[in-house]
Amino acid sequence: MKRVLVFEAHGDDMEFLAGGTIAKFADRGHEVTVVVATDNDKGSFELSAEELRAVRDREVNGAAEVLGVRRVIPLGYSDGDLAYQVPPDRLRAQCMRIIRELKPDIVFTWDPFTPYEGHADHRAIAVAASEAASFSHFPLYEPEQMREGLAPHYVSECWFFAKSPRDLNVYVDIDGTIDRKIEALCRHEAQMVLTIADMQVHLRASGLDVPWLAQLDPHDYHEPIARRMKAAARAVAERSGLACTYAEAFRRTRYGGIESLAKDQSIAEDVT
Ligand SMILES: [Zn+2]
Repeated sequence: MKRVLVFEAHGDDMEFLAGGTIAKFADRGHEVTVVVATDNDKGSFELSAEELRAVRDREVNGAAEVLGVRRVIPLGYSDGDLAYQVPPDRLRAQCMRIIRELKPDIVFTWDPFTPYEGHADHRAIAVAASEAASFSHFPLYEPEQMREGLAPHYVSECWFFAKSPRDLNVYVDIDGTIDRKIEALCRHEAQMVLTIADMQVHLRASGLDVPWLAQLDPHDYHEPIARRMKAAARAVAERSGLACTYAEAFRRTRYGGIESLAKDQSIAEDVT
């Protein structure tokens, strides 16, 4: 059994880009914990910030249950303000503390090195979590955590996801979990309604004619979200070389690249 720790900015980030893989890890008995940095309190055209915060926990926990996630840790920062509400070194220290407490083998998070990532929350958690995973085994980082009784912890693998990924080196067959990935995403009702409503804003502003989208009630998001997720996962599968219909892809680093020094040896895969 391995311990897997996901750092995401918003409750649905992991589901979009890694939900099938996380469900597969959970199915194989690995213990998954998800850290959600923000509370999604700006993610709606129709609900107030207070109403959003109230539904958010229910939706995040419902999605986690679908995927087999053992525990969700909310950090409670305001949506859209993660990069401005907490200094980068404090966010990194907070991620490092969670790593030293939970002792994960594998960390999943946004890739800090891909282009065109427009959301500052994604960029902030990517930098903080990836640096925390890289340095949490160095005892002179955040030494007050040592004085409190925590110990340095070595993270052996990082799996990075991104909207515009680069240098992908791991592809995961998610044929067996694509339906749960979609179901988990659909548990994020406020966010999925927003996704459709936002597309309609762009459509109206553009003057283009896409009747199915213009006429869609945003609350009927299930079918279009499922269609979009399956098309994206099918495109990844086609590039993967795997004999599957649906896949997810990651840039993975493990054991600091030490494998390149170990000729004729390889490290066993856990899910791929
Ligand atoms: Zn996000």
